Amino acid sequence: MKKFCIIALITYSLIGGSTLSKATIVPRVSEERLQLIREIQQKLNLSFHCEFSVHIGQTRKYATANSSGIIMIDRSFLQSADPESIFFAIAHEYAHAYLQHDVLLYGQMTNPKGVNEELRSWTDTRRHFEKEADGIAARKAKQMGFAIEGIIKFILEIPDLEKGVPAEDRVYSKPSERAHYILAVFQSS
Ligand SMILES: [Zn+2]
Repeated sequence: MKKFCIIALITYSLIGGSTLSKATIVPRVSEERLQLIREIQQKLNLSFHCEFSVHIGQTRKYATANSSGIIMIDRSFLQSADPESIFFAIAHEYAHAYLQHDVLLYGQMTNPKGVNEELRSWTDTRRHFEKEADGIAARKAKQMGFAIEGIIKFILEIPDLEKGVPAEDRVYSKPSERAHYILAVFQSS
């Protein structure tokens, strides 16, 4: 039972109408935010022709995903961010999951020349995947009517954890370059 409760605390989903929420000490997410997540999930599933599920938990980032289609959005981010930022973070993770970026990266790690020969290194591949996910999320935002202003503000406010790292060793572009790319994709979609 104890083990079950710990697992429930970490991974339980409010999306599927879980009855566990009242039994835990985790602060409740507002009904408005739950509805927002449900709507984003429905729209993205329809758009990607998939049945991924968005869960609420604690992540070290804004959101995470794996190619089995489980998207995890950070609880405190969900409670404090604006809808555009939440949409972008989830759509970015949908792109990673849909394109199976984690599987491809693992494949390259275990067989460096087998997956993406045109890309020089694992870091290059990661950078390429991050940009690809940003581009897809920007297009989805345009299609689904999420304002770009909030998304750009979000990207520019993300702390640059790679500050001072040479461009060729960075996984993410600099925030200003990332914002510029996202805006360009949005406007050209
Ligand atoms: Zn990413």
